Amino acid sequence: MSESAAAAATALLDRIQAPEGAGRDIPDAATREVIGRAPVQTVADLDDAIARAGAAQPAWEALGHARRSELLLAAADAIDANAEGLAHLLSREQGKPLNGPNARFELGACSAWLRTNAGIVIEPEVLVDDETLHAELVYKAAGVVGAIGPWNWPLMISIWQIGPSLRMGNAVVVKPSEYTPLSVLAMLSVMNEVLPADVLIGVSGDREIGARLSSHPDIDKVMFTGSTATGRKIIESSAGNLARLTLELGGNDAGIVLPGTDPAAIAEDLFWGAFINTGQTCAAMKRLYVHDSIYEEVVDALAAIASTVPIGNGLDERNVLGPLQNRAQFDIVERLVADARERGARIVTGGEAATELGELFYRPTIVADIEDGAALVDEEQFGPALPVIRYSDVDEAIARANGLDVGLGASVWASDPEAARAVATRMQSGTVWINSHGGLHPMVPFGGVKSSGYGLEFGVEGLKSVAVSQVVSGPGRKG
Ligand code: NAD
Repeated sequence: MSESAAAAATALLDRIQAPEGAGRDIPDAATREVIGRAPVQTVADLDDAIARAGAAQPAWEALGHARRSELLLAAADAIDANAEGLAHLLSREQGKPLNGPNARFELGACSAWLRTNAGIVIEPEVLVDDETLHAELVYKAAGVVGAIGPWNWPLMISIWQIGPSLRMGNAVVVKPSEYTPLSVLAMLSVMNEVLPADVLIGVSGDREIGARLSSHPDIDKVMFTGSTATGRKIIESSAGNLARLTLELGGNDAGIVLPGTDPAAIAEDLFWGAFINTGQTCAAMKRLYVHDSIYEEVVDALAAIASTVPIGNGLDERNVLGPLQNRAQFDIVERLVADARERGARIVTGGEAATELGELFYRPTIVADIEDGAALVDEEQFGPALPVIRYSDVDEAIARANGLDVGLGASVWASDPEAARAVATRMQSGTVWINSHGGLHPMVPFGGVKSSGYGLEFGVEGLKSVAVSQVVSGPGRKG
């Protein structure tokens, strides 16, 4: 990591952090040193932000699609111009390394998502066009969007919420996770170099800010990504303000490896499908079902990667895995693996904290000879520990994969893509991947089923979800 990127990160921090003596210290996830002070704003600050956003929104919508798209492209340019400084800050605050599918990758995705949103055209949909009736469906801004995000991919997930919302003419009030406010506020500040005043406002504070944002009477739409428990509270709030909701909630994605698959050919992709961002990814593979005939080979191939993958401080370019972001998440991973061990599961590699690296590092862990019902299988670990479950009958594996009350993603792995496709459509999940897990594209809708939430993000569907539709109904061709 170059000194200039560190200096750029410091300059970004200086723009947004609370003054000396105020705010809350935010630690470096790897070293636990304080990296800056996040503002802790009040509910009154939030109310003021929502009022300002509401006042700015009509003029923003009136700019029209073409001009808003130009400004989104300018915001993407501004992010690109500040990418190294933002990646440095993100790496320290979140823990993810600069290298690999991590901090720089996340910044690249932010800019790519904004550019794609800028380019999508939403045309009126002609519903009826005959002698007597011409009816169209048009999409307009919802108003003020409340964007509430988690700490695992804090910048990219904020952009997923902000990009479509701004593109459709909404103003957005962003509440970053209290674990990762600095990098989000820094990115908003960079975007606000080019956006009109008050169409994009960050409010950093405690969980009460999230609660107020989702229940505020002047919020028209809530984009929420986080836990299922918080999602349920937001649904309750929406009974009051009738805000429309997009809820991207927790998952426990299953992968199924079919018989006849070559373990060596899929091992690397299987590993990254589970361990991307040190396992702290909503749509990561969190349980893997492997056919008995190749079970040991798959377990060994995964363990070989897990035991050698470079893990450590994210600013060291050699590392591709980092720490858990926070103590609570570390404790969950530790508890689930300890429970698996007590039940007699086989810890093939890992299974302990990597204390020599720092407080919150946990060795990449592969757990074999474990069954459904074990907490590591049934609960979302959200960390670097993958349970690998043996099966002998494909129908039974599908039933077990579908047996939990979540359904964000799933994957099927096979040498024969047709065999994989037949299984894929039987999985209960918003997305099912074949021979990969977790890959996203800004034009391909993403969202969960069951307790993983509802509503779609990305692409045309994503723009519609931050809009309100209106039917324009008039006389037909006869006049
Ligand atoms: P969380 O629910 O604890 O917090 C998410 C956000 O909600 C934070 O900004 C928090 O301050 C805010 N919040 C807290 N209480 C609130 C309330 N009452 N009303 C409104 N907002 C409130 O989740 P987390 O621990 O930050 O994130 C981890 C979870 O998020 C995991 O379960 C993970 O699977 C899920 N996740 C899902 C996706 C997805 O796309 N489906 C993506 C990333 C993470």
